[in-house]
Amino acid sequence: MPAILQLLDLTRTYRGGGHDLTVVQGVSLSINAGTTCAITGPSGSGKTTLLGLCAGLDRATSGSVVLDGHALERLDEDERALLRRDRVGFVFQDFQLVPTLSAVENVAVPLELRRHNGARKLAAELLQRVGLGDRLDHYPVQLSGGEQQRVGLARAFIHRPAILFADEPTGNLDSATGAAVEDLLFELNREAGTTLILVTHEAELAARCGRVIRLMNGTVVADYAPGEHRESTVHSSRGSSVYPHDGAFGPAGSGAAGGRP
Ligand code: ADP
Ligand code: MG
Repeated sequence: MPAILQLLDLTRTYRGGGHDLTVVQGVSLSINAGTTCAITGPSGSGKTTLLGLCAGLDRATSGSVVLDGHALERLDEDERALLRRDRVGFVFQDFQLVPTLSAVENVAVPLELRRHNGARKLAAELLQRVGLGDRLDHYPVQLSGGEQQRVGLARAFIHRPAILFADEPTGNLDSATGAAVEDLLFELNREAGTTLILVTHEAELAARCGRVIRLMNGTVVADYAPGEHRESTVHSSRGSSVYPHDGAFGPAGSGAAGGRP
């Protein structure tokens, strides 16, 4: 299985206030395409910063990120934006919806950037899938935190990214909605072969992933496969496609669901 993400001695230092703060320090790892990976660690350990570096939203102080075959440090801002547009989905911890766009317009953005016909229709269908079919024309300010999170999630996968980064994607959801959103993420991995990299504090969600990477003070302190030695106790709903009207997604996800038993 080829690597879709490789980090080499990645370091990010924030400068300012008279002192430097290194929040990601010498991280090297490789993640295979089609797998699922959880990043865990205490608050402030650098999870969000690491995710931003991996997705090309932020630039490393030193070291290298190779995303889908592209060394991000060699790309300029426009080239990184194009790579993100075509290959990357990102669910932000703080949602980052466009306040002047309705829910359905927010979700449609990644496809409209690619001048896709029918972006709005697909956006409406995906919002239905995340339980927001009756909120299409609401603006972010009219939505709860959990509802905004689900809009952010639908936006992150509408263009079928090769790799999806999700920063605490169930952090604002009640347990039933959280479980539905989790199922959607893993369906996306299974059906579309999307590589999933998610930050979570929830042990159960981490245990569903093929691999868990634990950060402490910006360095990797554990890297293991939780599914290897025990049966998974959580099962996704089956039989429905993440994308409406699309049963045939290709074989990529079928055998590559993150190495779960
Ligand atoms: P986590 O997601 O694990 O909670 P973060 O990556 O958000 O951690 O933050 C790691 C550390 O970096 C924290 O101490 C935080 O205060 C600091 N930090 C994050 N962003 C910035 C920034 N833009 N400028 C300065 N310090 C920052
Ligand atoms: Mg964070």
